Amino acid sequence: MTAYEAAILDVDGTIVRGERLLPGAAAGLRALDDAGVPRLLFSNNPTRSADHYRDRVAAHGVAVGEGLALTSATVTADYLSRSHGSASIYLVGEARLARILERAGLEVTGEPADADVVLGSIDREFDYDALAAAMRALERDVPFYGTDPDVTIPAGEGTVPGSGAMLAAMTAVAGREPDAILGKPSEIAAEAALSRLGADPSRTLVVGDRLDTDVALGDRMGATTALVLSGITDREDLDGADVRPDHVLEDLGDVGRLLD
Ligand SMILES: [Mg+2]
Repeated sequence: MTAYEAAILDVDGTIVRGERLLPGAAAGLRALDDAGVPRLLFSNNPTRSADHYRDRVAAHGVAVGEGLALTSATVTADYLSRSHGSASIYLVGEARLARILERAGLEVTGEPADADVVLGSIDREFDYDALAAAMRALERDVPFYGTDPDVTIPAGEGTVPGSGAMLAAMTAVAGREPDAILGKPSEIAAEAALSRLGADPSRTLVVGDRLDTDVALGDRMGATTALVLSGITDREDLDGADVRPDHVLEDLGDVGRLLD
């Protein structure tokens, strides 16, 4: 019998890196399955759908249950559908995110004067004109959201700017902070994950490679947290960090020892 009734697992740096399954990932997932702990995969990637991650891990023989994958894109689309379903969304973000929003029934506009809501996210074509247009949209005093707070993200070529960098530029020119940043570790993300699992947060285990998103999400919901060292965080980063995990694992393969 394990103390946990559910687990929320990060994907990049925790289960996979690029197209590669990380060492220990298969063993860790098997240990959760053997202990009867349902697992939700939750990525802060705002340019991918939940189905993308289901397919990506399925390619490595890892099955993900229906509804048990989330990304910051799907959380954002769900939230905006519920709270601003008929709004025109002015997006600083990538075409794939625009398609995810549109598939959720949302309208995306490229015209700052038509914006009812402004959404900021990673945009690898972001430039001065895009910032000037976002500034005009934000001058209209409309709700301002971000998909995820990650200022930098790992990429094939090293670390690159993420959504948080676009949001910082938008915040600077608008003179105001986003009303909410919807991915991990927000309250909205915590509620989305827990409702998918139907789990009691105090009996939930949150595992990931980032202190500021994964471990912070677990702390916010009152879950038990485990940091894996297979991703962006190493032991030196832990010294003096204000977010502290309950457990530190070399990789997901060690998760079994938390389940006994
Ligand atoms: Mg990660």
